[in-house]
Amino acid sequence: MSTRTPLFVLGAGGHGKVVAEAARACGAFDFRGFVDHDRSRWGTEWDGVPIHGSPDALDADASIALGVGDNRARSEAMRGLDGKRIATVVHPSAVVARTARLGDGTYVGPMAVVHADAEIGRGCIVNSAAVVEHDCRLGDYVHVSPRATLGGGVTVGEGTHLGLGAVLLPGLSVGAWTTLGAGAVMVESLPDRVTAMGVPARQRPVPGSRIYLSPPHLGDDEWALVREAFASNWIAPLGPHVDAFEAEFSRAVGAPHSAALSSGTAALHLALRRLGVKLGDTVFCSTLTFVASANPILYQGGTPVFIDSDETSWNMDPDLLADELDRASRAGRLPRAVVVVHLYGQSADIDPILAACERHGVPLVEDAAEALGARYRGRSPGTFGRFGIFSFNGNKIITTSGGGMLVTADGSEASTVRFLASQARTPAAHYEHEVVGFNYRLSNVLAAIGRGQLRRLEERVAARRETFAFYQQALGAVPGIAFMPEAPYGEASRWLSVILVDPEAFGADADEIRRHLEGADIEARPVWKPMHRQPLFAHCRVVGGGVADRLFRRGLCLPSGSSLRDEDRARVVETLLATPRTRRRTRVSLVHPVRVDGAAR
Ligand SMILES: *Cc1c(COP(=O)(O)O)cnc(C)c1O
Repeated sequence: MSTRTPLFVLGAGGHGKVVAEAARACGAFDFRGFVDHDRSRWGTEWDGVPIHGSPDALDADASIALGVGDNRARSEAMRGLDGKRIATVVHPSAVVARTARLGDGTYVGPMAVVHADAEIGRGCIVNSAAVVEHDCRLGDYVHVSPRATLGGGVTVGEGTHLGLGAVLLPGLSVGAWTTLGAGAVMVESLPDRVTAMGVPARQRPVPGSRIYLSPPHLGDDEWALVREAFASNWIAPLGPHVDAFEAEFSRAVGAPHSAALSSGTAALHLALRRLGVKLGDTVFCSTLTFVASANPILYQGGTPVFIDSDETSWNMDPDLLADELDRASRAGRLPRAVVVVHLYGQSADIDPILAACERHGVPLVEDAAEALGARYRGRSPGTFGRFGIFSFNGNKIITTSGGGMLVTADGSEASTVRFLASQARTPAAHYEHEVVGFNYRLSNVLAAIGRGQLRRLEERVAARRETFAFYQQALGAVPGIAFMPEAPYGEASRWLSVILVDPEAFGADADEIRRHLEGADIEARPVWKPMHRQPLFAHCRVVGGGVADRLFRRGLCLPSGSSLRDEDRARVVETLLATPRTRRRTRVSLVHPVRVDGAAR
């Protein structure tokens, strides 16, 4: 008897019920029940109508209305309904102007007004008593909450949420996936992906809420030690704290000798200098690293040859290194040194790397700037090669604001390095100079900070590993997100937690995630751009390079500081997951209908 369209509502939660009531009231539909992905609801009823599972089970001529309140979830639900009939539901008490247009799947609630020439996208909600004035343009999946009011000619981007009672003055625009809080009055336009609230509406987050990638984390001891340095008036690039820091550092990493220097870069420079790197020499170096690993090669007039990473550690591939050393040996052009980097708190596979170096008598320098607190077969990276270097820059696992350490098993080398770092002055009252020296020693004040920091090293490593575990737990099962592996031979300090993003599977690429996080005042960074891609090293050779390139393209370093709280970690995860997913294949095919000639999209 009825010509009414059979209708199911997708989502049996709060908004689903509201849509169902509107569908019943307007008489155009024969409301048959809900479909819902929540298994616990299957087979139950609401007000006499059943709740089903998959929409595939429904009869072909039925229409489906979207009863999902959350904008992102609704957009995904709608994509999942590709090929189904999507209903637009308008409550009979709503006023929709004859010249207004409503997209498929849009809902207009009781007492709402959509006025002349307004254009509402697909899958939108214009909720109870909301007013969308003439000539407004709303993108897809926008939610205009109850009693929100849009003046004439307002433009709203896709996925944006306008809170209860929000007011938008005529002619303004709001970007995509932005949230305007309840009761906010918007007096100037807002960009994409921000949250704004208040009267007049101001963008959050409030100052002080920024989450940094790897900020300094100071304890109680540092201040007391610095006071002691002040009290003793040792305000110089030498003194008792420097000596004590060197001794304590040696103990902490298991290195026979340590020399405290002004930076990790200075340490690397002196290491290469002691190895006699000079004009015309080559030095093999990891390509996936920070520029400070390679700059000192240039300081010495040498030329780097960059070696690619392997997949298990992301560090120098031992096989590539061995082959390249063999080749260089046959050509009679062995490098003066090899610089291996222990990236992001993970040791490179030192045994085969050291074996290859020893086979050819080439000394190994370990750049362990990022790997203090890591383990390789039970020992600290940095203690295997001829020299190891560490950094206490502000973003490293412990900091002296700026500083570095060179470690070596050779006591006379350590003394020579300290000598070179203090302007190479021979002990004579008038300062006699025979060789070029540098001003590279660490200040006694900064060494005091370093001593305090070092006492907390184990806790700091544990905190960073916890952060990694938190992210892995929260994001490990998300399609398109993978984590930097932990190589089986050791324990990474997880200086930084690094993910790889597959844009097709996740729906956004690493840089889109980074920018989305930045919009929420969360600092994330790309993986190091490989040295062989840097204009500075355009003249240098690279062995392989494809692995590092891919890690650079897909990698993203997440906030990893040891002072992160659980709520910070949760905010990172939630914000990351809220990144607009615009790259999914399904989405793309919806926007651009499949072409019969089969041309690629
Ligand atoms: C930080 C860093 C350095 C340099 O250390 P500084 O103390 O800043 O000079 C060297 N290599 C790597 C891999 C680093 O991350």
